[in-house]
Amino acid sequence: MTVYTGGCQCGAVRFRASGTPHHASICHCRMCQKAFGAYYAPLVSVRKMEFEWTRGQRKTFRSSNLVSRGFCGDCGTPLTYEAPDGMAVAAGAFDDPSAFAPSIQWGVEAKIDFVDHLHELPGARTEDDPEAESFQRELVSYQHPDDDTPVWPPEDHA
Ligand SMILES: [Zn+2]
Ligand SMILES: [Zn+2]
Repeated sequence: MTVYTGGCQCGAVRFRASGTPHHASICHCRMCQKAFGAYYAPLVSVRKMEFEWTRGQRKTFRSSNLVSRGFCGDCGTPLTYEAPDGMAVAAGAFDDPSAFAPSIQWGVEAKIDFVDHLHELPGARTEDDPEAESFQRELVSYQHPDDDTPVWPPEDHA
């Protein structure tokens, strides 16, 4: 059985999903845009998987009478979409989001027009920007690593 782990940016909330994802999708609806602070929301349905919270607990916001949105109360990372027919987890919160290629787009009536053209934008690598060099050199990440950790945060963060 395939095991997928993930969690929020600060590491206070971690989870594990085992089995085969029902599907991965992106949702363009206005509620998902708002909940993710994004142009659309990438979600992995875990309704047919074994799912457990392995560290901490999400907070939830009830975004409608039928749906709750889970997030980390410490760092704000969006984590779940919880509906009567099951739960979906924010794809980017998994340790390896590339494991979940989306197969459908929901809520396309609310799709922002330029979303269909993002791949046409010019691209730049971080290391090719000379102004980013000293920033990158001084930068120390406090983001939880993309693996489970026995203790978090490490003591030298404090
Ligand atoms: Zn967090
Ligand atoms: Zn949506």
